[in-house]
Amino acid sequence: MSTASTPDHWFEGSEFTHRVAQAVAQYGPISRTALAQIIGLSQGALSRITSDLIYAKVIEEVPTDHDDEGPLPLGFIAKDRTNRRGRPRTSMRLRGQQRSFVGVNLHGTALSVIVVDALCRELSECRNESLASTDPAAVVRQIAAIVEELSANIKPSPSLVGVSVGGHPFDDRDITYAPFLHWDDTVPLAAMLQKACAIPVVVANDLDALLLFESWFGAGVGIPRFALLTIGAGVGYALSEQGEPVDYPDKSYGLIGHALVDNHGPRCFAGHVGCAQCLTNASLAEEYSAAMGKAMSFEDFATDARAGKAQAQSLADTTCFRLGTLIATVENFAMPQQVFINGESSFLARLNTESIRSAINSLRPSRASKVDFTILDFSWDYWAKAAAANAIAHYLL
Ligand SMILES: [Zn+2]
Repeated sequence: MSTASTPDHWFEGSEFTHRVAQAVAQYGPISRTALAQIIGLSQGALSRITSDLIYAKVIEEVPTDHDDEGPLPLGFIAKDRTNRRGRPRTSMRLRGQQRSFVGVNLHGTALSVIVVDALCRELSECRNESLASTDPAAVVRQIAAIVEELSANIKPSPSLVGVSVGGHPFDDRDITYAPFLHWDDTVPLAAMLQKACAIPVVVANDLDALLLFESWFGAGVGIPRFALLTIGAGVGYALSEQGEPVDYPDKSYGLIGHALVDNHGPRCFAGHVGCAQCLTNASLAEEYSAAMGKAMSFEDFATDARAGKAQAQSLADTTCFRLGTLIATVENFAMPQQVFINGESSFLARLNTESIRSAINSLRPSRASKVDFTILDFSWDYWAKAAAANAIAHYLL
């Protein structure tokens, strides 16, 4: 049974036991041989751990052929993938249905809540609502009511709630700064929410949660180093190294937000010309208004750009080139294998990928290898699942 502050224990074990559970969650179904290779354990040691995890109903053995198996780390060559023709194969898979988790994403002045299983598969609809108030106590009451409603018929009841916020978390418990919610003082969000809904809570920065989701359950599984860029109300950047967000105390303050992307671009509130702020919704609305000679919202710009209206199309092309410049900066400095683009206005990137590509090519030495960029599908449901993924990782590790 959970208490209000500590999650129940699914299993006990050494650091390696936790790493095996993590690897099975990420790469499953996966053979014992490949697991042992990835974690660097002998077959014997690995077998003892998998037996313990099978006994604790954390993982299960399933018959598989090569086609059923999950993704493996980039460049990984499994020793057992080549022969043994005719022999039945078995693989390890996490028993996702044995636990449930809640994900809550606070974005702007709205929230999204979803319940998932231990493999981050949806168990409930995603509830999207505007915040009735940004007062922390009111936000907590609103979240707790939705959590109670969504998880009422879910068995087993949630082990942990993960909350992600566009802000600066401290110690997985408190939010010390959340500009979109106008929280300047420390808000003990985890303590407040776990008191209200009687389930343990962890809090995270929204980008870190998204990065973790991609590493564990999404497009980044098995990629040794990848970057995530988000555009929308703000500009976000995060880097994943060997499946973990690169840790840095100031990373959630929007460090890349004023990087130069266009020396002919508009001036930001801090006085820079053509910094990455010109990729934000507010700046695009302002720039589109200037082009049209009347007040236009970001939504007007988006609608007109999708419809191919000349001025909107032109600003979308410029925006894609500026985004390409930012991607090239990330590629050249952080040296990732992949760059993922997400965020509520990431659909703009799909309007002219050629323009993104030409900006990257202009800033990347011709002999340097091409770095892939991928525009991920955006929805707030996805960000709520990412908050739940962060709870799953906390729970398993
Ligand atoms: Zn700036």
